[in-house]
Amino acid sequence: MKLQQEVFDVVVIGGGASGMMAALVAGEQGKKVLILEKNKELGAKLKITGGGRCNITNAEFDTRAFLSHYGKAADFLFSPFSQFGVQSTFDFFEARGLPLVIQARNRAFPRTEKAHDVFKCLKRGLDAKGVFIKTSYAVKKIHHKGGKVMEVETNQGSFVGRSYILATGGLSHPETGSTGDGFKWLRDLGHSVQAPTPTIVPLAVEEAWVKSLAGTSLSFMKINFYLDGKKQLSKTGKVLFTHFGLSGPLILNCANAVGDLLEAGRVTATIDAYPDTDAGVVERGIIKIFDAHKNKSLKTVFKLVVPAGTATAIQTLLPEINFETAVNAITKEERKQIVRVLKALPITITNLMGYDRAVVADGGVTLTEVDTRTMRSRKLGNLFITGDLLHVNRPSGGYSLQFCWTTGYVAGTNA
Ligand SMILES: Cc1cc2nc3c(=O)[nH]c(=O)nc-3n(C[C@H](O)[C@H](O)[C@H](O)COP(=O)(O)OP(=O)(O)OC[C@H]3O[C@@H](n4cnc5c(N)ncnc54)[C@H](O)[C@@H]3O)c2cc1C
Repeated sequence: MKLQQEVFDVVVIGGGASGMMAALVAGEQGKKVLILEKNKELGAKLKITGGGRCNITNAEFDTRAFLSHYGKAADFLFSPFSQFGVQSTFDFFEARGLPLVIQARNRAFPRTEKAHDVFKCLKRGLDAKGVFIKTSYAVKKIHHKGGKVMEVETNQGSFVGRSYILATGGLSHPETGSTGDGFKWLRDLGHSVQAPTPTIVPLAVEEAWVKSLAGTSLSFMKINFYLDGKKQLSKTGKVLFTHFGLSGPLILNCANAVGDLLEAGRVTATIDAYPDTDAGVVERGIIKIFDAHKNKSLKTVFKLVVPAGTATAIQTLLPEINFETAVNAITKEERKQIVRVLKALPITITNLMGYDRAVVADGGVTLTEVDTRTMRSRKLGNLFITGDLLHVNRPSGGYSLQFCWTTGYVAGTNA
Protein backbone atom coordinates (compact mmCIF):
# COMPACT_ATOMS: atom_id res chain seq x y z
CA MET A 1 0.00 0.00 0.00
CA LYS A 2 1.42 3.42 -0.95
CA LEU A 3 1.37 5.90 1.95
CA GLN A 4 -0.31 9.21 1.21
CA GLN A 5 2.43 11.69 0.28
CA GLU A 6 2.85 14.83 2.41
CA VAL A 7 1.80 17.92 0.44
CA PHE A 8 3.49 21.28 1.05
CA ASP A 9 1.84 24.56 0.17
CA VAL A 10 5.08 25.80 -1.37
CA VAL A 11 8.18 23.88 -2.43
CA VAL A 12 11.18 26.17 -2.98
CA ILE A 13 13.92 24.65 -5.14
CA GLY A 14 17.27 26.27 -4.29
CA GLY A 15 18.12 27.96 -1.01
CA GLY A 16 20.09 30.99 -2.20
CA ALA A 17 19.23 34.66 -1.75
CA SER A 18 15.94 34.67 -3.67
CA GLY A 19 14.85 31.21 -2.50
CA MET A 20 15.38 32.06 1.17
CA MET A 21 13.50 35.33 0.75
CA ALA A 22 10.61 33.60 -1.04
CA ALA A 23 10.40 30.82 1.56
CA LEU A 24 10.49 33.28 4.44
CA VAL A 25 7.73 35.43 3.01
CA ALA A 26 5.54 32.40 2.28
CA GLY A 27 6.26 31.08 5.79
CA GLU A 28 5.30 34.42 7.32
CA GLN A 29 1.96 34.08 5.55
CA GLY A 30 1.31 30.84 7.41
CA LYS A 31 2.12 28.55 4.51
CA LYS A 32 3.66 25.11 4.94
CA VAL A 33 6.94 25.63 3.10
CA LEU A 34 9.79 23.31 2.11
CA ILE A 35 13.22 24.35 0.81
CA LEU A 36 15.21 21.78 -1.18
CA GLU A 37 18.89 22.71 -1.37
CA LYS A 38 21.62 20.54 -2.82
CA ASN A 39 24.45 22.03 -0.74
CA LYS A 40 25.02 21.11 2.88
CA GLU A 41 24.01 24.66 3.85
CA LEU A 42 21.79 27.39 2.48
CA GLY A 43 23.09 30.64 1.00
CA ALA A 44 26.60 29.67 -0.14
CA LYS A 45 26.78 32.47 -2.71
CA LEU A 46 25.11 35.02 -0.46
CA LYS A 47 27.88 34.47 2.07
CA ILE A 48 30.59 35.56 -0.42
CA THR A 49 28.75 38.57 -1.85
CA GLY A 50 30.45 41.95 -1.79
CA GLY A 51 33.78 40.36 -0.87
CA GLY A 52 32.13 38.94 2.27
CA ARG A 53 30.49 42.28 3.14
CA CYS A 54 27.31 41.85 1.06
CA ASN A 55 26.29 44.84 -0.98
CA ILE A 56 22.67 44.15 -0.12
CA THR A 57 21.03 46.82 -2.30
CA ASN A 58 21.65 50.24 -3.82
CA ALA A 59 20.11 53.11 -1.87
CA GLU A 60 18.38 54.77 -4.81
CA PHE A 61 14.87 55.10 -3.42
CA ASP A 62 13.22 56.44 -6.55
CA THR A 63 11.92 53.32 -8.31
CA ARG A 64 12.11 54.80 -11.80
CA ALA A 65 15.72 55.92 -11.27
CA PHE A 66 16.61 52.57 -9.71
CA LEU A 67 15.10 50.59 -12.57
CA SER A 68 16.93 52.64 -15.18
CA HIS A 69 19.92 50.40 -14.35
CA TYR A 70 18.17 47.27 -15.66
CA GLY A 71 18.09 48.29 -19.33
CA LYS A 72 15.21 46.90 -21.37
CA ALA A 73 13.98 44.77 -18.44
CA ALA A 74 12.90 47.93 -16.57
CA ASP A 75 9.52 47.98 -18.35
CA PHE A 76 8.63 44.63 -16.79
CA LEU A 77 9.80 45.47 -13.32
CA PHE A 78 7.62 48.36 -12.14
CA SER A 79 4.99 46.06 -10.72
CA PRO A 80 7.27 43.82 -8.62
CA PHE A 81 9.37 46.80 -7.48
CA SER A 82 6.27 48.70 -6.43
CA GLN A 83 5.43 45.69 -4.23
CA PHE A 84 8.93 45.39 -2.79
CA GLY A 85 11.48 48.05 -3.69
CA VAL A 86 14.64 49.43 -2.14
CA GLN A 87 12.85 51.02 0.84
CA SER A 88 11.16 47.67 1.51
CA THR A 89 14.58 46.00 1.60
CA PHE A 90 15.77 48.48 4.22
CA ASP A 91 12.56 48.04 6.24
CA PHE A 92 12.56 44.25 5.88
CA PHE A 93 16.09 43.68 7.16
CA GLU A 94 16.08 46.42 9.77
CA ALA A 95 12.79 45.11 11.23
CA ARG A 96 14.48 41.72 11.56
CA GLY A 97 17.45 43.05 13.48
CA LEU A 98 19.88 43.79 10.63
CA PRO A 99 20.57 47.54 10.35
CA LEU A 100 21.97 48.71 7.02
CA VAL A 101 24.44 51.48 6.18
CA ILE A 102 24.92 53.40 2.95
CA GLN A 103 28.43 53.80 1.60
CA ALA A 104 30.07 55.26 -1.54
CA ARG A 105 27.98 55.25 -4.73
CA ASN A 106 24.81 54.50 -2.70
CA ARG A 107 25.86 50.95 -2.07
CA ALA A 108 24.13 49.59 1.03
CA PHE A 109 25.65 46.98 3.36
CA PRO A 110 24.68 45.44 6.68
CA ARG A 111 26.12 47.69 9.40
CA THR A 112 28.30 44.78 10.55
CA GLU A 113 29.65 44.49 6.97
CA LYS A 114 29.26 40.73 7.20
CA ALA A 115 27.44 38.83 4.47
CA HIS A 116 27.11 36.01 6.96
CA ASP A 117 24.83 38.21 9.09
CA VAL A 118 22.44 38.62 6.14
CA PHE A 119 22.33 34.85 5.86
CA LYS A 120 21.78 34.49 9.62
CA CYS A 121 18.97 37.05 9.56
CA LEU A 122 17.11 35.12 6.84
CA LYS A 123 17.83 31.75 8.45
CA ARG A 124 16.50 32.95 11.83
CA GLY A 125 13.30 33.98 10.09
CA LEU A 126 12.96 30.62 8.32
CA ASP A 127 13.47 28.73 11.59
CA ALA A 128 11.03 30.98 13.45
CA LYS A 129 8.34 30.30 10.86
CA GLY A 130 8.96 26.55 10.89
CA VAL A 131 10.00 26.37 7.24
CA PHE A 132 11.14 22.81 6.47
CA ILE A 133 14.72 22.87 5.20
CA LYS A 134 16.22 19.86 3.48
CA THR A 135 19.89 20.41 2.66
CA SER A 136 21.93 17.88 0.64
CA TYR A 137 18.73 17.30 -1.36
CA ALA A 138 19.61 17.77 -5.03
CA VAL A 139 16.61 18.12 -7.30
CA LYS A 140 17.05 15.86 -10.32
CA LYS A 141 13.81 16.22 -12.22
CA ILE A 142 10.66 18.29 -12.31
CA HIS A 143 7.56 16.29 -13.32
CA HIS A 144 4.73 18.19 -14.95
CA LYS A 145 1.36 17.41 -16.48
CA GLY A 146 -1.43 19.48 -17.96
CA GLY A 147 0.37 22.80 -17.50
CA LYS A 148 1.21 22.15 -13.83
CA VAL A 149 4.22 20.91 -11.92
CA MET A 150 3.19 17.64 -10.22
CA GLU A 151 6.25 16.77 -8.12
CA VAL A 152 9.99 17.19 -7.89
CA GLU A 153 12.33 14.29 -7.75
CA THR A 154 15.51 14.56 -5.65
CA ASN A 155 18.44 12.28 -4.87
CA GLN A 156 16.49 11.33 -1.72
CA GLY A 157 12.88 10.92 -2.83
CA SER A 158 10.11 13.01 -4.34
CA PHE A 159 8.22 16.00 -2.94
CA VAL A 160 4.84 17.45 -3.76
CA GLY A 161 3.64 21.02 -3.42
CA ARG A 162 0.65 23.07 -4.42
CA SER A 163 3.07 25.69 -5.75
CA TYR A 164 6.74 25.55 -6.66
CA ILE A 165 9.31 28.34 -6.64
CA LEU A 166 12.32 27.73 -8.83
CA ALA A 167 15.33 29.60 -7.38
CA THR A 168 18.38 27.62 -8.46
CA GLY A 169 20.38 30.64 -9.63
CA GLY A 170 22.50 31.16 -12.73
CA LEU A 171 25.96 29.99 -13.66
CA SER A 172 28.39 32.32 -11.94
CA HIS A 173 30.69 30.79 -9.30
CA PRO A 174 29.43 27.23 -9.82
CA GLU A 175 31.31 26.09 -6.70
CA THR A 176 28.50 27.77 -4.69
CA GLY A 177 25.96 25.38 -6.19
CA SER A 178 24.70 27.49 -9.10
CA THR A 179 25.41 25.06 -11.89
CA GLY A 180 22.61 26.05 -14.23
CA ASP A 181 20.28 23.11 -13.47
CA GLY A 182 17.30 25.45 -13.55
CA PHE A 183 18.03 26.57 -17.12
CA LYS A 184 17.83 22.99 -18.36
CA TRP A 185 14.56 22.24 -16.57
CA LEU A 186 13.00 25.49 -17.74
CA ARG A 187 13.81 24.58 -21.33
CA ASP A 188 12.26 21.14 -20.80
CA LEU A 189 9.20 22.84 -19.32
CA GLY A 190 8.72 24.84 -22.52
CA HIS A 191 10.36 28.13 -21.60
CA SER A 192 12.77 29.86 -23.93
CA VAL A 193 15.99 30.42 -22.08
CA GLN A 194 18.51 32.98 -23.32
CA ALA A 195 22.01 31.57 -23.42
CA PRO A 196 23.95 33.06 -20.55
CA THR A 197 27.02 35.16 -21.14
CA PRO A 198 29.09 36.28 -18.20
CA THR A 199 28.26 39.99 -17.96
CA ILE A 200 29.96 41.42 -14.92
CA VAL A 201 33.38 39.89 -15.29
CA PRO A 202 36.99 40.95 -15.26
CA LEU A 203 38.91 41.32 -18.53
CA ALA A 204 41.87 39.21 -19.58
CA VAL A 205 44.66 41.19 -21.25
CA GLU A 206 47.84 40.42 -23.14
CA GLU A 207 50.35 42.86 -21.66
CA ALA A 208 52.84 41.74 -19.03
CA TRP A 209 53.05 45.24 -17.47
CA VAL A 210 49.39 44.94 -16.42
CA LYS A 211 49.89 41.53 -14.82
CA SER A 212 53.04 42.70 -13.05
CA LEU A 213 50.84 45.17 -11.16
CA ALA A 214 48.57 42.39 -9.75
CA GLY A 215 47.03 43.56 -6.50
CA THR A 216 47.46 47.30 -7.24
CA SER A 217 44.34 49.41 -7.54
CA LEU A 218 44.25 52.94 -8.90
CA SER A 219 41.43 55.42 -8.42
CA PHE A 220 40.27 57.95 -11.00
CA MET A 221 41.75 56.33 -14.07
CA LYS A 222 40.10 56.85 -17.41
CA ILE A 223 39.89 53.85 -19.69
CA ASN A 224 39.11 54.15 -23.40
CA PHE A 225 38.13 51.06 -25.38
CA TYR A 226 38.78 50.80 -29.14
CA LEU A 227 37.38 48.43 -31.73
CA ASP A 228 39.88 47.96 -34.57
CA GLY A 229 41.50 51.23 -33.52
CA LYS A 230 38.26 53.27 -33.35
CA LYS A 231 37.23 54.67 -29.96
CA GLN A 232 33.97 53.14 -28.71
CA LEU A 233 33.66 53.64 -24.99
CA SER A 234 35.21 55.76 -22.30
CA LYS A 235 34.78 55.49 -18.49
CA THR A 236 36.46 56.91 -15.41
CA GLY A 237 36.81 55.14 -12.05
CA LYS A 238 38.85 52.65 -10.08
CA VAL A 239 40.90 50.00 -11.88
CA LEU A 240 42.21 46.90 -10.15
CA PHE A 241 45.15 45.11 -11.76
CA THR A 242 45.18 41.31 -11.44
CA HIS A 243 47.43 38.45 -12.49
CA PHE A 244 45.24 37.90 -15.56
CA GLY A 245 44.27 41.46 -16.43
CA LEU A 246 41.87 44.11 -15.20
CA SER A 247 39.09 44.14 -12.64
CA GLY A 248 37.42 46.52 -10.18
CA PRO A 249 34.01 48.22 -10.40
CA LEU A 250 34.85 50.35 -13.44
CA ILE A 251 35.98 47.34 -15.47
CA LEU A 252 33.18 45.05 -14.28
CA ASN A 253 30.61 47.56 -15.39
CA CYS A 254 32.20 47.87 -18.85
CA ALA A 255 32.43 44.11 -19.37
CA ASN A 256 29.05 43.71 -21.03
CA ALA A 257 29.85 46.33 -23.67
CA VAL A 258 33.40 45.02 -24.10
CA GLY A 259 31.96 41.53 -24.64
CA ASP A 260 29.96 42.90 -27.57
CA LEU A 261 33.08 44.59 -29.00
CA LEU A 262 35.06 41.36 -28.74
CA GLU A 263 32.44 39.71 -30.92
CA ALA A 264 33.05 42.37 -33.56
CA GLY A 265 36.83 42.58 -33.81
CA ARG A 266 40.13 43.42 -32.14
CA VAL A 267 39.67 45.28 -28.86
CA THR A 268 42.36 47.48 -27.38
CA ALA A 269 42.24 50.01 -24.57
CA THR A 270 44.25 52.84 -23.15
CA ILE A 271 44.35 54.01 -19.56
CA ASP A 272 44.82 57.70 -18.94
CA ALA A 273 46.61 57.94 -15.60
CA TYR A 274 45.83 61.67 -15.30
CA PRO A 275 42.35 62.09 -16.81
CA ASP A 276 41.70 65.52 -15.26
CA THR A 277 44.92 67.01 -16.57
CA ASP A 278 45.76 67.65 -20.20
CA ALA A 279 49.09 66.53 -21.66
CA GLY A 280 50.63 70.03 -21.51
CA VAL A 281 49.91 70.36 -17.82
CA VAL A 282 51.22 66.86 -17.10
CA GLU A 283 54.43 67.79 -18.93
CA ARG A 284 54.82 71.04 -16.96
CA GLY A 285 54.37 69.00 -13.75
CA ILE A 286 57.13 66.64 -14.87
CA ILE A 287 59.46 69.54 -15.69
CA LYS A 288 58.92 70.90 -12.16
CA ILE A 289 59.75 67.53 -10.61
CA PHE A 290 62.83 67.13 -12.84
CA ASP A 291 64.03 70.65 -11.93
CA ALA A 292 63.75 69.83 -8.25
CA HIS A 293 65.81 66.62 -8.64
CA LYS A 294 68.18 67.63 -11.50
CA ASN A 295 71.07 65.30 -10.74
CA LYS A 296 69.16 62.21 -9.70
CA SER A 297 68.60 59.33 -12.08
CA LEU A 298 65.32 59.08 -13.95
CA LYS A 299 64.84 55.70 -12.29
CA THR A 300 64.71 57.38 -8.87
CA VAL A 301 62.64 60.38 -9.92
CA PHE A 302 60.18 58.40 -12.06
CA LYS A 303 58.38 57.24 -8.89
CA LEU A 304 57.31 60.85 -8.32
CA VAL A 305 55.93 61.15 -11.85
CA VAL A 306 53.67 58.08 -12.04
CA PRO A 307 50.82 56.84 -9.83
CA ALA A 308 52.12 55.20 -6.64
CA GLY A 309 53.40 51.66 -7.09
CA THR A 310 53.46 51.68 -10.89
CA ALA A 311 56.98 52.96 -11.69
CA THR A 312 58.61 49.61 -12.50
CA ALA A 313 55.70 48.44 -14.65
CA ILE A 314 55.40 51.69 -16.62
CA GLN A 315 59.16 51.84 -17.12
CA THR A 316 58.85 48.69 -19.27
CA LEU A 317 56.67 50.68 -21.68
CA LEU A 318 59.55 53.07 -22.40
CA PRO A 319 62.33 50.72 -23.59
CA GLU A 320 64.11 53.41 -25.62
CA ILE A 321 64.76 55.58 -22.59
CA ASN A 322 67.78 54.90 -20.39
CA PHE A 323 66.47 55.16 -16.83
CA GLU A 324 69.98 55.42 -15.38
CA THR A 325 70.36 58.86 -17.05
CA ALA A 326 70.23 61.90 -14.74
CA VAL A 327 66.96 63.75 -15.31
CA ASN A 328 68.74 66.93 -16.48
CA ALA A 329 69.98 64.89 -19.45
CA ILE A 330 66.53 63.65 -20.47
CA THR A 331 65.63 65.13 -23.84
CA LYS A 332 62.46 67.04 -24.62
CA GLU A 333 61.35 64.20 -26.93
CA GLU A 334 61.92 61.62 -24.18
CA ARG A 335 59.86 63.74 -21.77
CA LYS A 336 57.05 63.97 -24.30
CA GLN A 337 57.21 60.22 -24.78
CA ILE A 338 56.73 59.74 -21.01
CA VAL A 339 53.68 62.02 -21.14
CA ARG A 340 52.23 60.14 -24.11
CA VAL A 341 52.52 56.83 -22.26
CA LEU A 342 51.00 58.21 -19.05
CA LYS A 343 48.04 59.58 -21.01
CA ALA A 344 47.54 56.31 -22.91
CA LEU A 345 48.89 53.19 -21.19
CA PRO A 346 48.41 50.52 -23.87
CA ILE A 347 46.33 47.38 -23.34
CA THR A 348 45.06 44.58 -25.58
CA ILE A 349 41.91 42.86 -24.36
CA THR A 350 41.96 39.16 -25.20
CA ASN A 351 38.70 37.96 -23.69
CA LEU A 352 36.17 38.21 -20.87
CA MET A 353 37.02 35.99 -17.93
CA GLY A 354 34.66 33.02 -17.56
CA TYR A 355 31.77 32.20 -15.25
CA ASP A 356 34.14 31.17 -12.52
CA ARG A 357 35.02 34.82 -12.06
CA ALA A 358 31.70 36.39 -13.00
CA VAL A 359 29.69 38.36 -10.48
CA VAL A 360 26.54 38.04 -12.52
CA ALA A 361 25.92 35.97 -15.57
CA ASP A 362 22.85 37.10 -17.44
CA GLY A 363 20.79 34.69 -19.47
CA GLY A 364 17.72 32.83 -18.36
CA VAL A 365 14.02 33.01 -18.86
CA THR A 366 12.84 35.97 -20.89
CA LEU A 367 10.68 38.24 -18.77
CA THR A 368 7.86 38.12 -21.34
CA GLU A 369 7.34 34.49 -20.32
CA VAL A 370 6.79 35.39 -16.68
CA ASP A 371 3.92 37.39 -15.20
CA THR A 372 6.12 39.81 -13.29
CA ARG A 373 3.18 40.99 -11.15
CA THR A 374 3.41 37.61 -9.41
CA MET A 375 6.58 36.00 -10.84
CA ARG A 376 4.37 33.15 -12.08
CA SER A 377 5.51 31.25 -15.17
CA ARG A 378 3.23 31.79 -18.16
CA LYS A 379 3.81 28.15 -19.12
CA LEU A 380 3.01 26.34 -15.87
CA GLY A 381 0.32 27.73 -13.58
CA ASN A 382 1.85 26.71 -10.24
CA LEU A 383 5.49 27.54 -10.99
CA PHE A 384 7.20 30.77 -9.91
CA ILE A 385 10.68 31.85 -11.01
CA THR A 386 13.11 34.13 -9.15
CA GLY A 387 16.57 35.67 -9.06
CA ASP A 388 19.41 34.83 -11.41
CA LEU A 389 17.21 32.41 -13.39
CA LEU A 390 15.66 35.43 -15.09
CA HIS A 391 17.27 37.15 -18.05
CA VAL A 392 18.04 40.59 -16.68
CA ASN A 393 21.17 42.58 -17.30
CA ARG A 394 22.26 44.74 -14.37
CA PRO A 395 25.37 46.48 -13.15
CA SER A 396 27.23 45.67 -9.94
CA GLY A 397 26.44 47.78 -6.88
CA GLY A 398 23.62 45.89 -5.13
CA TYR A 399 21.30 45.59 -8.14
CA SER A 400 21.48 41.78 -8.31
CA LEU A 401 20.57 41.11 -4.72
CA GLN A 402 17.81 43.73 -4.81
CA PHE A 403 16.42 41.87 -7.81
CA CYS A 404 16.54 38.65 -5.73
CA TRP A 405 14.80 40.27 -2.73
CA THR A 406 12.10 41.71 -4.99
CA THR A 407 11.41 38.61 -7.09
CA GLY A 408 11.70 36.37 -4.01
CA TYR A 409 9.23 38.51 -2.09
CA VAL A 410 6.73 38.67 -4.95
CA ALA A 411 6.95 34.92 -5.66
CA GLY A 412 6.71 34.06 -1.95
CA THR A 413 3.64 36.28 -1.56
CA ASN A 414 1.85 34.83 -4.57
CA ALA A 415 2.86 31.17 -4.52
C1 LIG B 1 31.48 36.59 -5.99
C2 LIG B 1 30.11 37.22 -6.10
C3 LIG B 1 29.85 38.38 -5.39
C4 LIG B 1 28.59 38.97 -5.51
N1 LIG B 1 28.35 40.11 -4.78
C5 LIG B 1 27.17 40.72 -4.91
C6 LIG B 1 26.87 41.89 -4.14
O1 LIG B 1 27.65 42.32 -3.28
N2 LIG B 1 25.67 42.50 -4.36
C7 LIG B 1 24.77 42.02 -5.26
O2 LIG B 1 23.70 42.63 -5.42
N3 LIG B 1 24.99 40.88 -5.94
C8 LIG B 1 26.15 40.23 -5.78
N4 LIG B 1 26.37 39.06 -6.47
C9 LIG B 1 25.27 38.45 -7.25
C10 LIG B 1 24.32 37.69 -6.29
O3 LIG B 1 25.07 36.93 -5.39
C11 LIG B 1 23.35 36.79 -7.06
O4 LIG B 1 22.62 37.61 -7.94
C12 LIG B 1 22.42 36.06 -6.14
O5 LIG B 1 23.08 35.28 -5.18
C13 LIG B 1 21.48 35.15 -6.94
O6 LIG B 1 20.57 34.55 -6.06
P1 LIG B 1 19.65 33.36 -6.53
O7 LIG B 1 18.72 33.10 -5.41
O8 LIG B 1 19.08 33.62 -7.85
O9 LIG B 1 20.63 32.13 -6.72
P2 LIG B 1 21.86 31.56 -5.85
O10 LIG B 1 22.23 32.48 -4.75
O11 LIG B 1 22.88 31.18 -6.85
O12 LIG B 1 21.24 30.28 -5.19
C14 LIG B 1 20.85 29.15 -5.91
C15 LIG B 1 20.81 27.96 -4.97
O13 LIG B 1 20.19 26.86 -5.64
C16 LIG B 1 20.89 25.69 -5.31
N5 LIG B 1 20.70 24.70 -6.36
C17 LIG B 1 21.16 24.73 -7.62
N6 LIG B 1 20.79 23.62 -8.29
C18 LIG B 1 20.08 22.86 -7.42
C19 LIG B 1 19.45 21.61 -7.50
N7 LIG B 1 19.49 20.85 -8.61
N8 LIG B 1 18.79 21.12 -6.41
C20 LIG B 1 18.76 21.84 -5.25
N9 LIG B 1 19.36 23.04 -5.12
C21 LIG B 1 20.02 23.55 -6.18
C22 LIG B 1 22.34 26.15 -5.22
O14 LIG B 1 23.11 25.24 -4.47
C23 LIG B 1 22.19 27.50 -4.55
O15 LIG B 1 22.25 27.45 -3.16
C24 LIG B 1 27.60 38.43 -6.35
C25 LIG B 1 27.88 37.25 -7.04
C26 LIG B 1 29.10 36.64 -6.91
C27 LIG B 1 29.36 35.36 -7.64
